[in-house]
Amino acid sequence: MARRTTPTRADGRRVGLVTGGGTGLGIAIAAGLAQDGYDLVLASRSPQHLATGARTLRSRGARVLEVPTDVREPDQVERLFGRVRDELGRLDVLVNNAAGNFVARTEELTPNGWRAVVGIVLDGTFFCSRYAFPLLRESRFPSIVNIVASYAWMAGPGTAHSAAAKAGVVALTRALAVEWAPHGIRVNAVAPGPVRTEATDERLWTSERVRQAIVRTVPLGRFGQPAEIAEAVRFLISPAAGYVTGEVLAVDGGQWLGRGVMPLLETLERGRRPTSSARYARAGRRRGPRRTGRGR
Ligand code: NAP
Repeated sequence: MARRTTPTRADGRRVGLVTGGGTGLGIAIAAGLAQDGYDLVLASRSPQHLATGARTLRSRGARVLEVPTDVREPDQVERLFGRVRDELGRLDVLVNNAAGNFVARTEELTPNGWRAVVGIVLDGTFFCSRYAFPLLRESRFPSIVNIVASYAWMAGPGTAHSAAAKAGVVALTRALAVEWAPHGIRVNAVAPGPVRTEATDERLWTSERVRQAIVRTVPLGRFGQPAEIAEAVRFLISPAAGYVTGEVLAVDGGQWLGRGVMPLLETLERGRRPTSSARYARAGRRRGPRRTGRGR
């Protein structure tokens, strides 16, 4: 399929758009793009969040366009990308990071609570990808990164709404990776493990007791840092990942792989008791001569 020519801005700078880019991981991801010389578009509902994010990025020399947008609303999303075309003339990277989440027993979850989360995460990712497409296919090195979570493919008790929505985004990531590959658009996802942000401290792990329990589920034994998620996004949008599409990169300290794995190594930590293998070896040595004695 023929590729269109990239619209050239006078200075040739690339443009990246981060939804939810004014807070938490979004701001770290946007800062990572800024480090690579991208101009940035930040899109989320709250002008205050956008202003905070933009201030931080500008203090590091980035050029930033703030566009208040509710990603659940297709008309607003269409206008967002219209402004990107009109004011910046191009789009090279889209990071679908906006989300909402809270802990609820599913039998008590209201239909509105469900719709809100699925609307931001799944509908929002679709709307943004859909309206970004005409701009992305004009870029020389276009890429989408969706921020998901490992409970999309594991169990997410207490956050079934978010788990279901993120699982949908994983499916969308893979579908679009194949469907848009002929346009050169790579579509990948990053699944962060637990990373403390204002939002998680407020709505997910709200006490020290819960935070300690969370850390015990992570083989590397700590929370992640926002910058570690940003580095994964930088890799996926870079030429180094030019042959990577449809992938989900877990950046989680081994959390999802560690779950359900039998803690057999703990048996080695119980004092000096010989391990099973040492006892078998001794038993084998004892059996050896007896067998010989019977003439076998
Ligand atoms: P956060 O600070 O709450 O980020 C969510 C962002 O989404 C906010 O900036 C919010 O801005 C925006 N947003 C919410 N509803 C929106 C809407 N309808 N339209 C547009 N923007 C909307 O949380 P975070 O911890 O940084 O999480 C960032 C991403 O990482 C999320 O996708 C989350 O699921 C994922 N994640 C985080 C962790 C973690 O441990 N932190 C783990 C796994 C996955 P406004 O309020 O201004 O709209």
